[in-house]
Amino acid sequence: MKLICIGRNYAKHIEELENERPEHPVVFLKPDSSILLKKHPFVIPPFSNDVHHEIEILVKINKIGKHIDEKFAHTYYSEVGLGIDFTARDLQSELKAKGLPWEKAKGFDGAAVIGNKWINKENFNSVDDIPFRLEKNGEVVQKSSTSQMLWKIDALISYVSQYFTLKIGDIIFTGTPEGVGRVQEEDKLKGFLGDTELFSINVK
Ligand code: ZN
Repeated sequence: MKLICIGRNYAKHIEELENERPEHPVVFLKPDSSILLKKHPFVIPPFSNDVHHEIEILVKINKIGKHIDEKFAHTYYSEVGLGIDFTARDLQSELKAKGLPWEKAKGFDGAAVIGNKWINKENFNSVDDIPFRLEKNGEVVQKSSTSQMLWKIDALISYVSQYFTLKIGDIIFTGTPEGVGRVQEEDKLKGFLGDTELFSINVK
C-alpha cells in the first residue's frame, strides 16, 4: 500500500507558511515504513529541531482505479479517517530552498499517524463538510472542516489517479489546515473527527 499526500490544500495554511498558491494539487508520497505503530509514542528524530504536527483528513481507497473521473470518485472509498503528517520543518525548508525532494523531511519512521478508527462516510451529511481538530496538551491547536479544502476529496482522487494507479488499502492524506506548530517531548496529541476521538499519542 502507499500513502499519497497532498500539500497546500487549505488557503490559510498556505498563508501561514508564506507559500505560493498552487495551480494544481501538490502531491508527494510517504513510504509504508513511516506509519507510526499502534500504541507507540512519536519519537522526535535526531536530525530535526522543528518537527511540526499537521492534522489531516484521510481517505482509504477500496477499489483499484486509474484515470478516475471526478464524478465517479465517490465510488472508490467508503471510509474516512484522521491522521498526522509529521514534518521536519527545518529539514523541509532546507530541501525546498535547494529545489530538492521533501521525502527525508516527511517520510521518516513514525512520520505518518493513522487514527485507530475509520468512519463510514454515510455518517456525515456531506464529505465536503466534515469538522476535525487537533488538541495538544488539552488545547485546540488546529481546527477546520473539509469545506475549507481548495480541492475536495473527489477532485483529489481524480487528480492523483491520473499519475498513480490507486489500489485497495492506499491512503490519501488530504492536506493540513492552518495552525501547524512544533511538537516537544512530553506533548500529548489527540485528534477528533467530528466529536469522535480517533487517536491519542505521546511525543518522546
Ligand atoms: Zn501535510
